[in-house]
Amino acid sequence: LPVNDDLLEKVFITVKTTGRNHLTRLPVIIRTWFQLAKKQTWFFTDTNDQHLSQVTGGHVINTNCSATHSRRALCCKMSVELDVFLETKKKWFCHVDDDNYVNVPALDELLKMYNPIGDWYLGRTSTPKPLQIRAKSQKTTFWFATGGAGFCLSRALVLKMAPISGNGKLMAIGDRIGLPDDVSVGYVIEHLLKIQLTRVEQFHSHLEPMRLIKKDLFNEQLTFSYSLDNEPNTVDVDGFNEITDPTRLTFNVSKFLWITTTVIGHVKS
Ligand code: UDP
Ligand code: MN
Repeated sequence: LPVNDDLLEKVFITVKTTGRNHLTRLPVIIRTWFQLAKKQTWFFTDTNDQHLSQVTGGHVINTNCSATHSRRALCCKMSVELDVFLETKKKWFCHVDDDNYVNVPALDELLKMYNPIGDWYLGRTSTPKPLQIRAKSQKTTFWFATGGAGFCLSRALVLKMAPISGNGKLMAIGDRIGLPDDVSVGYVIEHLLKIQLTRVEQFHSHLEPMRLIKKDLFNEQLTFSYSLDNEPNTVDVDGFNEITDPTRLTFNVSKFLWITTTVIGHVKS
């Protein structure tokens, strides 16, 4: 092993996206945290996009999954993300949504704390109780990490999942339990493989109020998110407002540096 082993080199970061989000959600990612993890990050989508391919150095994978928000389509994408990861030699798989900001240096620090030779399922739950389902007329409860907050799996674990959910079989699992992709992943890991989720509260989805994340703890957080629906839910950062930066992600939280304001024009258009 090289002495100055760059841990980030060991990570494969997947961003789940869809054709109609390419121009609305990806520019802010590409201008910010993607720049710190260009070699590690890949966009998993459902349409061919020459421009996206060009600005990401070819880091776009067309999963050929359908471009809908259906459970099957999302399980299809997640299963391609996991299958492609196994084709790499990377030690860690980290999934995020296209409305996540990844604090790259913090992610690096997190993964240094765990050995990828072990089975690790790192993420944040968004339900107060474990999920209870009825499978084969048996009650089962399990936890799952919210996909929209981002989660990481060690290679050892993804290898164990492969016979059960690899090669597209995650879709069948989703069909069987009738639940979304992130829940299906939790079902495979916690229920079928009996490996427990390690809760990491620094992953964040827009299911939580983003404004509750304290400013002085920003640099310890692993991910952020936003939603701009009727009731906007965004990280509370000084200096930007709704008009100049609707997502509040152009602020490079990890280094407390402002990304140039010229970026902001791109976000809006
Ligand atoms: N997504 C997708 N296909 C769709 C709709 C959404 O792959 O047809 C992806 C989207 O790019 C995002 C994730 O699924 O990464 C969650 O979508 P969104 O944030 O729009 O909805 P949420 O489930 O968070 O309310
Ligand atoms: Mn979302």
